[in-house]
Amino acid sequence: MAKIKMTTPLVEMDGDEMTRILWKIIKDELLLPFIDLNTEYYDLGLEYRNETNDQVTVDSAEATKKYGVAVKCATITPNAARMTEYNLKEMWKSPNGTIRAILDGTVFRAPIIVKGIEPTVRTWKKPITIARHAYGDVYKGSEVKIPGAGKAEIVYTAEDGTETRELIHNFTGAGIVQGMHNLNESIESFARSCFNYALDTKQDLWFATKDTISKKYDHTFKDVFQEIYDAEYDEKFKAAGIEYFYTLIDDAVARVIRSEGGYIWACKNYDGDVMSDMVATAFGSLAMMTSVLVSPQGYYEYEAAHGTVQRHYYKHLKGEETSTNSVATIFAWTGALRKRGELDGNKELMEFADKLEKATIDTIESGKMTKDLALITTLENVTVLNSENFIKAVRETLEKML
Ligand code: NAP
Ligand code: MG
Repeated sequence: MAKIKMTTPLVEMDGDEMTRILWKIIKDELLLPFIDLNTEYYDLGLEYRNETNDQVTVDSAEATKKYGVAVKCATITPNAARMTEYNLKEMWKSPNGTIRAILDGTVFRAPIIVKGIEPTVRTWKKPITIARHAYGDVYKGSEVKIPGAGKAEIVYTAEDGTETRELIHNFTGAGIVQGMHNLNESIESFARSCFNYALDTKQDLWFATKDTISKKYDHTFKDVFQEIYDAEYDEKFKAAGIEYFYTLIDDAVARVIRSEGGYIWACKNYDGDVMSDMVATAFGSLAMMTSVLVSPQGYYEYEAAHGTVQRHYYKHLKGEETSTNSVATIFAWTGALRKRGELDGNKELMEFADKLEKATIDTIESGKMTKDLALITTLENVTVLNSENFIKAVRETLEKML
């Protein structure tokens, strides 16, 4: 069989630890035998980030702007322990944070659904995608511990020196204060990314905040979404047969639990952080969650939602057998290849991505899976495979399909 050709390169961002091991096996077993893989390779492994003073991360994000689509392996975000482990020059920032800042995107996370891994919520039949705003609020907040009686105020000083003051609280004893912000421009990008992604995936979009209590802050989010929707998206949504609606966050939570899934739930930064873990866990496993960063300009970066699976990597280094789930990493590749195919009008590449996803799901549904899934599956007569043999089993299924 002739290999599938690619006209435009895909930006490939390699990563760390166990996921780096899986990355290579996925390429060798599931991609290179079938595709004339055309990638521009960036090594975001911590050693090379350190060697290049993290320039490689910036370069990979710039390349994503040039070509439009990237696929990323999980990477270590250094902390104190990693400084010694890797003898780092500096505590380099989170690559995801750097890439997000350059592409200015919104992160969409969706579970991969297979028979035999049943959601905790019985009514959920289709995936629920969480769209998380990735800028500001408590993540860029400033906080003060109030030692005792006194007045706390918010003060805004305009460039001409004019001051606007708002009383926070007249303290009579000790307490705490927090100030946070967001930017209209960032909220607008967030809204457009959500609307575009809803059109892209033909799913309804829900957005929820606490605007009844936060009459200026959260209400601005609500207003920005509505204004952009009315001006730019109403007709497109109607033509696509999908719906946008806004509701209060508490009402959204109740509706989500009663729903059967199949929509995008847009969340402010903190809500998205918390709700994506809730949704991932309730769908079965973090190892079955995909993640894509979509910029308002239409650049896409695909990855798995989990980390580098450090504990498994140390076992691997000791020569012990691992059974690490590669599904989310395989789906990062298929997501990126499908999008590349779509942008290039490369139907063969898109069909290959569909088949590889189906082969992965069929393999699990036939009872062959990694240990994390074997522990929670409702299927009987399951075969637990090690990291490499699971990928080889997917290849066997795929070869039968091709
Ligand atoms: P993790 O890599 O997500 O793993 C946490 C635990 O979850 C694992 O020990 C394992 O549990 C389970 N798990 C996660 N993914 C799995 C998979 N594919 N197959 C089987 N089990 C899986 O998180 P972490 O250990 O907290 O973080 C390790 C490194 O990843 C850190 O350096 C962190 O900075 C980085 N990280 C990167 C990203 C990213 O690049 N997107 C995201 C998060 C974290 P058991 O040990 O019980 O088997
Ligand atoms: Mg979190």
